[in-house]
Amino acid sequence: VVEIRGLMKSFGDLDVLKGVDLDLHKGENLVVLGKSGSGKSVLIKIMVGLLKQDAGTMTVLGKEVSTLRTKELNALRLRIGFSFQNSALYDSMTVRENMEFPLVRNIKNLTKKEITMKIEGLLDSVGLPQSINQMPSELSGGQKKRIGVARTLILEPEIMLYDEPTAGLDPITCGEINTLINQVREEYNTSSIVITHDLTCAKDTGDRMAVLLDGQFDAVGTFEEVFPHAEDKRIKSFYDYNF
Ligand code: ATP
Ligand code: MG
Repeated sequence: VVEIRGLMKSFGDLDVLKGVDLDLHKGENLVVLGKSGSGKSVLIKIMVGLLKQDAGTMTVLGKEVSTLRTKELNALRLRIGFSFQNSALYDSMTVRENMEFPLVRNIKNLTKKEITMKIEGLLDSVGLPQSINQMPSELSGGQKKRIGVARTLILEPEIMLYDEPTAGLDPITCGEINTLINQVREEYNTSSIVITHDLTCAKDTGDRMAVLLDGQFDAVGTFEEVFPHAEDKRIKSFYDYNF
């Protein structure tokens, strides 16, 4: 569902992506790893048309993103759920209002009742049915993340992009988020990219790992293929640091 070929992106003198090739297959969870500043967020920003590449192609659901007009791009974005790094809920709105927001903006022909049923169903599937009238300030960090995922799912995306979903969470809550990511894939039949520094998250959610090293994906494969016996020092240090 995503095909990346020869993708390059620089900012001034800084070459961030230097010919990236990568595929996201239908229905898989692909984990993207790489040290801070390696270009992971840039990659998904190009995927949703927030940045333009300098060269190469980014084909998402059959469309080359950089060539789309605003209208087509907006239509494509509705099919992609992205939860940005540190992206928060609107603090002045209740959970219900936070979740209604993308719906009423993008889908006009739903009744009040249909909207409520959708919201309740999603809150159920992220395990927070009782939180519908709460304010974000009344929720824990992990609960906010789960509400964030529920809000993203409300438009029934075909692709989910998670940018560091477990950052800043304790190991138990990380585990719950990992379970949620897997459950979302099964229940909603999405294909997902999970960006993380957390190898436990990678191992528990990823069908395949892709490690971004010096502007390219060097190691792509299952967790067992990429990590335990890595010869590349940089990949090995990732593994040693986490386990
Ligand atoms: P982290 O793990 O810390 O989130 P990352 O791999 O997501 O890191 P990116 O956010 O993709 O890193 O950034 C890659 C590099 O590109 C960084 O050096 C960053 O400063 C630079 N960069 C990203 N966006 C821009 C921009 N809009 N203008 C200039 N430089 C940018
Ligand atoms: Mg990032």
